Amino acid sequence: MIYKNDQASLQGFLEDTSNIKTGHTPGAFFPETIEELANLLKGAVAEGRRFTMSGNGTGTTGGRIPMGDYVISTEKLNHIGDVMQIADDQAYMTVQAGALLGEIQKKAEQHGWFYPPDPTEKLCFIGSTIANNSSGARTLKYGPTRKHIARILVVLPQGDLLNLARGACMADDNGMFKLTLPIAGDLVFQRPQYSMPETSKHNAGYFSEENMDLIDLFIGSEGTLGVIAEADLMLIPLPESIISCLIYFRSIDDLFSFIQYLKIQHLKNPNNQASLRAIEFFDKHALGFLTAKYPEIPAESAGAIFIEQETTTESEEADLEALFALMESCNAMSDESWMALDRDEQAQMREFRHALPLIVTEWLRKQQESKISTDMAVPAGKIRELFDFYRSSCEQLGFIYIIFGHIGNEHLHLNILPRNHEEFLLGKSLYRQFISKVLALGGTLSAEHGIGKLKAEYLVEMYHESGIKEMARIKKYLDPFLVLNIGNIIPAAYLENEQH
Ligand SMILES: Cc1cc2nc3c(=O)[nH]c(=O)nc-3n(C[C@H](O)[C@H](O)[C@H](O)COP(=O)(O)OP(=O)(O)OC[C@H]3O[C@@H](n4cnc5c(N)ncnc54)[C@H](O)[C@@H]3O)c2cc1C
Repeated sequence: MIYKNDQASLQGFLEDTSNIKTGHTPGAFFPETIEELANLLKGAVAEGRRFTMSGNGTGTTGGRIPMGDYVISTEKLNHIGDVMQIADDQAYMTVQAGALLGEIQKKAEQHGWFYPPDPTEKLCFIGSTIANNSSGARTLKYGPTRKHIARILVVLPQGDLLNLARGACMADDNGMFKLTLPIAGDLVFQRPQYSMPETSKHNAGYFSEENMDLIDLFIGSEGTLGVIAEADLMLIPLPESIISCLIYFRSIDDLFSFIQYLKIQHLKNPNNQASLRAIEFFDKHALGFLTAKYPEIPAESAGAIFIEQETTTESEEADLEALFALMESCNAMSDESWMALDRDEQAQMREFRHALPLIVTEWLRKQQESKISTDMAVPAGKIRELFDFYRSSCEQLGFIYIIFGHIGNEHLHLNILPRNHEEFLLGKSLYRQFISKVLALGGTLSAEHGIGKLKAEYLVEMYHESGIKEMARIKKYLDPFLVLNIGNIIPAAYLENEQH
């Protein structure tokens, strides 16, 4: 197995897009087979090693950044299997953890199939997207990654291989999971007892619901309970046709009315072929950042909406007419808006959406301070209140900020971009106020990016001490010697104190 411990090779593993700068590691392993990966974990206690799993470093919360532990990179485990059709409208593909999401999507599409999860950034590894239950714009129609995973092969912290198909291991009526493994022996443990918020997206802490599937405990557990080594991804037929458009508004009230009516249309008909799959938002400051690359953005726009709607050749004209009518009735800047009907132009429009976080990251590289960013979502009907709260709080303090993201799922990212350390500290204390506000609205601390190391200290506000202790209990049950991804989700102090 390849092992590297020279500083030049290790430096990249000390970073992701969180801007955490305190990572350090004695070395990185690059298993080339799943057996090698399992052997590393089997030998962890005897060798006195702890491991942090690494994908491709596009995460936003420092999850892959080691704090003194060894790194395991999955980059050599990158096999993408063939498309296996199992019904007219169903296929699957077996992939290893280190396969690139963009390559998987491309291969599926070449064969006329579609893997819906699309967390904006295509340079991520599929194993990480499962470990993080990644979402993205299309989650509006298709839900997060967990909805598209038929099977995972997990390497547990003691080195057991657990081959887990969806439906194979369910919690009983008391919430108990039972399984027997060669190394860990008989495992009997209870799912977390807390309930999750009523948001359409939620990705903070371990998944929990009545009679849940064990596969859903691992999906989204951010590598704390096991390593995703391989997975079967469910594929559906590629949509026949798509309408994409970027619509500008002079008034933010008109923009919000437009979304409201659009969603009413969508909810009437969520599962048929002609259906909205993405509603994304840009405030005027976000558009301001994008203007350097896209000078055609109209200066007088107060905000913009990017939508993607699946359609068919037969209904495309009627769908376009309905969209134009809605734009007119909501005073959209129709003449300045951008409509894309062919795949090349649609890819350019998606690139517009992708460009924003990249431009902000580039801007931040020139600053001394890290951004303060929210990833919170609220239940249906509450997003306007949260948007106004974000906006007025930032305006009062004179911050540079942008608000953008997945408004269709009542989920907006606020990025505060501090110019100095004083602003950074003010932004951090504001972040706590945002958490209180979102929780009061019944929302979630993280809708998609997860908790990682960056947000672990805040999770207690959502689940209280009791909820964090429940997660620590499960973590210690599956990882009794604490060898895997320590520091993600659960603050270390809870692992030291909690008895399993
Ligand atoms: C421009 C940009 C836009 C983004 N937009 C979105 C978005 O819209 N929606 C969204 O959800 N995310 C988004 N992200 C975040 C990011 O792409 C995802 O979190 C992605 O899943 C990270 O993949 P990675 O391979 O880079 O993982 P890394 O950053 O390397 O690791 C992420 C986490 O996964 C763990 N991990 C890695 N591999 C495994 C494994 N095999 N088994 C167990 N644990 C593992 C790591 O320990 C770490 O905790 C965006 C990122 C960028 C840079």
